[in-house]
Amino acid sequence: YTAKRAHAGVAAYDPDQDQNDANKLTMQSDLRQGVSRGELVLYYQPKIDMATGQPSGMEALLRWQHPQLGLLAPDRFIPMAEETGLIDLITTEVLDMALRQVREWYDAGRALRVSVNVAARSLFDVTFPEQVVAALERYDVPPELLTLEITETALIADPERANLVLERLRAHGVDISIDDFGTGYSSIAHLRAMPPHELKIDRSFVMRMCTDARDETIVRAVVELAKGLNLRVVAEGVEDAGAFEALSALGCDEAQGYHISRPLPPAELAAWLETVHENVMVA
Ligand code: C2E
Ligand code: MG
Ligand code: MG
Ligand code: MG
Repeated sequence: YTAKRAHAGVAAYDPDQDQNDANKLTMQSDLRQGVSRGELVLYYQPKIDMATGQPSGMEALLRWQHPQLGLLAPDRFIPMAEETGLIDLITTEVLDMALRQVREWYDAGRALRVSVNVAARSLFDVTFPEQVVAALERYDVPPELLTLEITETALIADPERANLVLERLRAHGVDISIDDFGTGYSSIAHLRAMPPHELKIDRSFVMRMCTDARDETIVRAVVELAKGLNLRVVAEGVEDAGAFEALSALGCDEAQGYHISRPLPPAELAAWLETVHENVMVA
């Protein structure tokens, strides 16, 4: 008598799946512990202001320094954290780390903006705006230095409730960016109802814009759309000089990608900032 026979035709017992579930549970409790042990770290990827060639800000990108598995990228643990609700604790932690870092830069004489990725469910949490304000106050960081990146998918689930939270964040002076723009649904109507400050063109379009005319057309259209609506427009996934120059010619405001820098730990970022200071990037 095995589970396989008992559930025949419904959900066959699969020892591999069992193993996966076991791994998942281990990962879940590891992550919970990891958060409290300070194993989450932020890398920072600079963005360049295309008009001046100067760094305009950083995107905070989460990594998990796992004691056995090494440095893990967010796609290895964020989806699980979203499923289990652990993401709320992680978001709080990320906001705290990012704003502490901004304060450090500020004290060292650099007013650098930081962009923090926010999971969809935060937009349905009416206490989220107060959490953000509390974190800004904790490090005495001006709200203009913080941008929250959200995905379009977050907006479609319940636009009215999401707008309530976004409206409060706006009122506090925090910028809102629509991340991975062009990959979600019915984005344009939402831009009208609840204008963000920034559109971030998804890297899938940017990475192919020099080799596929369709991607170039999409990038061009998003830049036009953003300009027409008076929104800042940022391209992510800028991997080479060709894309950088093409974006600059289109009038894109900011660029982010491996061509400029990979995401870096804070110490390496400080060194990078020193070199870029003398070596301004202009297309
Ligand atoms: P995202 O917000 O769209 O971040 C951009 C991703 O593109 C990052 O991947 C970055 O390392 C990668 N990237 C940057 N430049 C290039 C390039 O030139 N070429 C290519 N191929 N890739 C580039 P990463 O760090 O693995 O993050 C993946 C996703 O995980 C992020 O996508 C974001 O959705 C999520 N994420 C990261 N940090 C956080 C966080 O603190 N909280 C939440 N909720 N999600 C996060
Ligand atoms: Mg992002
Ligand atoms: Mg993105
Ligand atoms: Mg993306």
